[in-house]
Amino acid sequence: MRYLITNLPLALGDEKRPLAELLTALFGGGPGEYRDPVLERLSLDARHKGAIRFLAALSFTTARRLDGIELPKGAQVAPAPASPAWEVARVARPPRVVVVGSGPAGTFCALRLLDYGIEPIVLERGAPMSERVRAVAGLWSGGPLDLDANAQFGEGGAGTFSDGKLTTRIGHPAIRFVLETFVQHGANPRILHLAKPHVGTDVIRKCSVLIRKAAEARGARFRFRARLADLRFRDGAVSAAVLADGEEIPCDALVLAPGHSARDTFEMLHRHGVAMRQKAFAMGVRVEHPQDLIDRSQYGPSQGHPSLAPADYKVVCNFSTARAAYSFCMCPGGEVIQCASEEGGVVVNGMSNARRDSGFANSGLVAKVNTADFGSDHLLAGMYFQRRWEQAAYRAAGETYGAPAMSVQDFLAGKATGRLPATSFRPRAVPSDLALCLPDFIQEQLRGAIPDFDRKIRGFASRQALLLAIESRTSSPVQLLRAENGESASHPGLYPCGEGAGFAGGITSAAVDGIRVAEWIARKAGAPVFAP
Ligand code: FAD
Repeated sequence: MRYLITNLPLALGDEKRPLAELLTALFGGGPGEYRDPVLERLSLDARHKGAIRFLAALSFTTARRLDGIELPKGAQVAPAPASPAWEVARVARPPRVVVVGSGPAGTFCALRLLDYGIEPIVLERGAPMSERVRAVAGLWSGGPLDLDANAQFGEGGAGTFSDGKLTTRIGHPAIRFVLETFVQHGANPRILHLAKPHVGTDVIRKCSVLIRKAAEARGARFRFRARLADLRFRDGAVSAAVLADGEEIPCDALVLAPGHSARDTFEMLHRHGVAMRQKAFAMGVRVEHPQDLIDRSQYGPSQGHPSLAPADYKVVCNFSTARAAYSFCMCPGGEVIQCASEEGGVVVNGMSNARRDSGFANSGLVAKVNTADFGSDHLLAGMYFQRRWEQAAYRAAGETYGAPAMSVQDFLAGKATGRLPATSFRPRAVPSDLALCLPDFIQEQLRGAIPDFDRKIRGFASRQALLLAIESRTSSPVQLLRAENGESASHPGLYPCGEGAGFAGGITSAAVDGIRVAEWIARKAGAPVFAP
């Protein structure tokens, strides 16, 4: 019989012991009595600084009777659930599908369509990987911004220059498929069991290219520097994609997965009256500390233990009832990066390599921007609000793609002294007054919250802490509306998808939304309802 034991506490170091040995110690007998043991999940429990441990879930097959055996406190053993089926049959008459965007949503949509025998054309406005990496490196060393090859646009989408965290709060059977796809294309198999899977930008770049090549080998066509500029409709339903050079590509279904930075695309959709609504998002700064400082606070006496990865944190402060301030997309061992995609606008975010060994820790420090803050009922007002503050950040950086920066202590004191702690940011952190590029209500939230964060993480507001602006692209400022069958609520044949459409918030959830959309398209093409 196959079993699953959950919440099994393991001392630091024990996570490396052979699984059969752990099972023998728990249930008795010999290691040979536990067949095919698999580590299903491993999470760090750092609630008690003096007793940091792991919690594990293991599955295994044994003929032994396990009832009546006393387990460590909290642990439970039960028959293992069956793995969900994933195979599907090809549809008899595949529709012509165009997918816009090669980010996780577009790419995983394409992969799932291929399972149904539907061979999509994937349009990507940006450059293929190697060209994109060169353009981004140029910007980060003080060169020009390439509007179609930057941290937002190009092969692999926004997550390519990212921390590569594959965590998600959604629960969906397709998550396993997404993680397995990354592993099949070069990611460390550990991501299948870690509670906080992380691949890093270096690995995700390689995976993205290999996944794209695998999709091409199965019949998908990826076209780079191919920007969707317009749509054609017949009887209200989408009938063709129009590229920036005027080329028209006829289609029966168009998957729109352009990410949250495709402002010209949103304007085009708005012109056509595609159903959408304003959406709240969050805005603020990136905060950066030495990684040591975070490790000391989070791990206490266990700091430096070889089983412990560079520490992360998550902090929230509801000091005012109107909106919370919180950390966002924390990157241990990472760097703060320039993520601009528009001329004359500065945007910061964070990324890391798989080894997370930069010596710095950074995180977004943001507060909610409600739709009422946009100052207009225009459906794209949130997008214009973002742009306005990104342009203010550009001016505060001396009209460069540096990042305006201020020490946390200066920010709290409300005076810019020009003294900046060390930073990973390139090309240059520009000493500035962040009051010039943050709305008053965000400044107020952050000033109220930072002392609270300092109580939770010792040193958070110390002299070594730096703020860089502006963290404005936390999520999409619009939501495209979908009907129950996944199509646009206004235009049949159009499938809004992923983060830009407001249906995902990260790499894995965007990939899962891509898969969801592929299922809807396949169902419309006659495939039986798939329920994994
Ligand atoms: P995107 O990944 O944005 O992809 C959209 C693609 O569409 C882009 O490649 C774009 O060039 C293309 N496109 C846009 N308009 C057009 C058009 N008109 N025609 C053709 N192509 C078009 N998430 C995590 O889960 N973990 C992380 O660690 C993490 N770190 C991040 C770090 C950074 C620096 C950034 C910027 C984001 C990070 N994210 C992270 C967020 C994550 O990248 C996004 O949630 C995810 O990529 C969204 O996927 P998507 O496919 O919906 O859109």
